[in-house]
Amino acid sequence: MVRAIVGANWGDEGKGKITDMLSEKSDIIIRFQGGSNAGHTIVNKYGKFALHLLPSGVFYDHTTSIIGNGVALNIPYLVKEIQSLVDRGVPKPHILVSDRAQIMMPYHVLFDEYEEERLGKKSFGSTKSGIAPFYSDKYAKIGFQVSELFDDEVLKEKTERICEMKNIIMQHMYHKDPIDPKELLNTLHEYRDMVAPYVCDTAHFLRDALAQGKNILLEGQLGTLKDPDFGIYPMVTSSSTLAAYGAIGAGIPPYEIKQITAVVKAYSSAVGAGEFVSEIFGDEADELRRRGGDGGEFGATTGRPRRMGWFDAVATRYGCMMQGATEVAFTVMDVLGYLKEIPVCVGYELDGKVIKDFPVTSKLKRCKPVYEVLPGWGYETRGIKKYEDLPENARKYIEFIEKEIGVPITMVSNGPGREDIIYR
Ligand code: GDP
Repeated sequence: MVRAIVGANWGDEGKGKITDMLSEKSDIIIRFQGGSNAGHTIVNKYGKFALHLLPSGVFYDHTTSIIGNGVALNIPYLVKEIQSLVDRGVPKPHILVSDRAQIMMPYHVLFDEYEEERLGKKSFGSTKSGIAPFYSDKYAKIGFQVSELFDDEVLKEKTERICEMKNIIMQHMYHKDPIDPKELLNTLHEYRDMVAPYVCDTAHFLRDALAQGKNILLEGQLGTLKDPDFGIYPMVTSSSTLAAYGAIGAGIPPYEIKQITAVVKAYSSAVGAGEFVSEIFGDEADELRRRGGDGGEFGATTGRPRRMGWFDAVATRYGCMMQGATEVAFTVMDVLGYLKEIPVCVGYELDGKVIKDFPVTSKLKRCKPVYEVLPGWGYETRGIKKYEDLPENARKYIEFIEKEIGVPITMVSNGPGREDIIYR
């Protein structure tokens, strides 16, 4: 059985926590898109971790963690992240890397940085992990596949050919020193040795696992609104964040994905630039940011303060629809305990009319939030284990949102830890 755990918002919904929690009863956990720009914060018996490239299932001895073919694989980063877990007492995780994954090259990271510099105020707010240059090269067919590391002749010829091309941009567009193809080839040889122990034909491995009835989790990064097709283009990421892409980025048949758990946050937050209709500012935003998440809403990869807003039912309904959500895990519910009243964005006002369907970016820019204000419940809900034990107004808030988004909320997360969960 395959279950996808994906974001219905702008990311940072708490997918890491839900994945870590559900991994207990899973055999295989797969990252299928994105790269080390992800930031999943996980709190469990080993401590607090911010994972960037590894799937959030790495904390169990019985799980296999896979870096799927759809991922932007930063090899030194992978090795460092594995080591950092072992250094903190986590048993060495079982990791497989798809032989068809492509490699994040040092120049991708540089280009990402130089391009953001060049754009200045018009920058995308990239995490500068090389993601956009990486996926551009993959689809321009000038990327390096893991399998190519093991073919010396191909590797040498390709390195020289690609340096020639990259150096034109490096020198003439960014006025930086050229890449030395010999040095790059050496780096790739080092990458080969680092990744060799993990490389696997993961598509065949997964076919066998499916035949044996294993439980598989697909772990998404970011959320629907950052999807290159269905998100707030162009302020999106460069690989699809949708559950459907899990089939491609992991190499499994689409019909095997039986359950799609959309992770939805009890309020809104976003990192980077882009449209955000229910965004709030000033003291109101500062307070929510300070109280939010686990110790404040700051990016796990960049440390940047996240932009804050009220729950957006228009964006989330659309977010769930595009994911094909079969259920919702509703997170960071506990954070809202301090509010006397909680606005929920239930529509957008566009050119004098109220709309309910999430529009394209050019229209989204002109949208103003329409709020309905619900009463707060006024106290901390952490530690509560049963849905019936939640304060009445908290249940009303959840049920109001469930009705708005039209997908059953089957789990309510009321704290960052594995055990802070209410099943309905
Ligand atoms: P992800 O990228 O979707 O995995 O989300 P992040 O890890 O970037 O951000 C979610 C943040 O919220 C992390 O700091 C989590 O530890 C924290 N978190 C997750 N679920 C809950 C919850 O129910 N309550 C609280 N207070 N924090 C949570």
